[in-house]
Amino acid sequence: PDVPVGAILAGAARRWGDRTAFHYAGRDLSFAELARQAARFAHGLRARGVGRGDVVALHLPNIIQFPVAYYGTLLAGATFSPCNPLLPPDDLAFQLADCGAVAVVTLDFVAAPVAQALDRTKVRTVIIAPLGEGPADVTGLCDGAFAECGVDFAAVGEGQPDTFPEVEIDTGADLAHIAYTGGTTGRSKGVMITHRKVVTNALQYACWGSGSVPALDGEGGLTLDQVGSEEEYPVRLGTGVIVNVAPWFHAMGTIGYLNMPVMQGATVVVHPRLDVPAFLADMEKFRATTLGGAPALFSALMADPSFETRDLSSVRAVSSGAAPLAVEMLHKLNEKFPDATVVEAYGLSEVTMGATANPPHRSGERRLGTVGVPVFDTQVKVVAADAEQVDDSTPALPAGAEGEVCVKGPQVMVGYLNRPEETAAVLGEDGWLRTGDIGVVDEDGFVSIVDRKKDMLIYNGYNVYPRELEEILFTHPAVAQAAVVGRPDPRAGELPTAFVVKSGEVTAEELMAYVNEKVVPYKKLREIVFTDEIPVSAAGKVLKRELRERL
Ligand code: ATP
Repeated sequence: PDVPVGAILAGAARRWGDRTAFHYAGRDLSFAELARQAARFAHGLRARGVGRGDVVALHLPNIIQFPVAYYGTLLAGATFSPCNPLLPPDDLAFQLADCGAVAVVTLDFVAAPVAQALDRTKVRTVIIAPLGEGPADVTGLCDGAFAECGVDFAAVGEGQPDTFPEVEIDTGADLAHIAYTGGTTGRSKGVMITHRKVVTNALQYACWGSGSVPALDGEGGLTLDQVGSEEEYPVRLGTGVIVNVAPWFHAMGTIGYLNMPVMQGATVVVHPRLDVPAFLADMEKFRATTLGGAPALFSALMADPSFETRDLSSVRAVSSGAAPLAVEMLHKLNEKFPDATVVEAYGLSEVTMGATANPPHRSGERRLGTVGVPVFDTQVKVVAADAEQVDDSTPALPAGAEGEVCVKGPQVMVGYLNRPEETAAVLGEDGWLRTGDIGVVDEDGFVSIVDRKKDMLIYNGYNVYPRELEEILFTHPAVAQAAVVGRPDPRAGELPTAFVVKSGEVTAEELMAYVNEKVVPYKKLREIVFTDEIPVSAAGKVLKRELRERL
């Protein structure tokens, strides 16, 4: 359906009004109350001169005000731009200036970088949520940096109507999100996503998870009708109760753990940061039905002693995304959650959130180690990695051949904001997006991600994909975490080098021998560096750039 993102919330408020949408720090926010608060926030923004075409940046961790500000921004006709609250001031200033934000929503506790970035941006309103009870100390915060432009979060919607404002939105043209890429491989770029793309990608995954058909409820709200039978879809991904720590400022969080649960009437128990024992306790207490996130979350949960003692039998679905799920980890998840279906999805900010997933329904075959098949209305093809350009006429490589993964579908971004050249480099005329990932499509259309093009090493002229070596390392019982990067070498080019966090006794020689007997000689590991920690981004991706810098 061609509706703005607000229709997701409108449908939820009408269908499940009193049900808890978000539970946070002992408080419940129902769907109806969320809709009312978002409406008031939207009117409040408009009263402050923020409307269609303006950008509102959300510089927030996952807290209860986030969904209010997110839907409020979109209901006002403005564009949402999420910022990681841990960004250093210079990076934040760059993002705020690049997207042209006129308003920022922040939390008093993390507001310092906003204060430092402010004079390099067009921001004229800073909305401040309090960490504790009562209004934020707007005038005193950060040495008075917000004395002129600051406003307390609750004050924005005060006295405003609680019905959605009448705003014209062109769903195919108006930007709902300007989302900055993770910056794993370079400087962040702002990805332009329209309302129609957000609704479409959330629907693509909601329908994939439940076999449902999207419809309108007659009053502008979106519903999922004709939900697939319980027999065929015993696992309703994204429904029930989700204890969530996936950040809403990242694509997987905004679509998968904010819009999808609202679209499907699920309750989200909100955790702003990962406190493993508390997370596991809430999974047991709230009888969580879905566990979702990046693989780094699963390894952290399983490493905790309380994992074994908690009753997690309510979990019906485990959904992994954002980074490669090692086959070894998949086996462990299957073993620890015998009643759950473990699925893996693949995506990137440039496709709103996702492009493929393993079929969750009974007659759909899941293939171990693959990221599944394209979601509906989406095409995936693998082309020669050195292809000049990719369009409809570019031949797909034969099944099983490695090449660059390309995606075409309604969820593919409009382009990068302010970067026509970088857009042209990845987005072809017919709408094919080059993902920068190396992958393989098998004869039945199942996609496997081999590695990122940028992470590939060249050893004496041979291509080495770190992920293959990492997968072998993960099968060793003394390895808790592993990441492989190249150490620059004047003769060989790059030497495959592993960073390893140990969970048992093993020497570098033993581990190297264990890996190297399983690979052809040019792929051999040349060095192992034991470390206490492998750096991961807020979205759960290994920061290989930092590891290369360490070398
Ligand atoms: P930047 O582009 O700025 O470096 P980033 O790539 O981290 O940032 P995202 O859009 O968050 O930005 O990440 C997308 C990438 O994550 C994909 O291109 C892919 O390499 C990886 N990825 C996501 N899901 C999977 C998956 N299931 N398996 C393997 N890799 C995945």
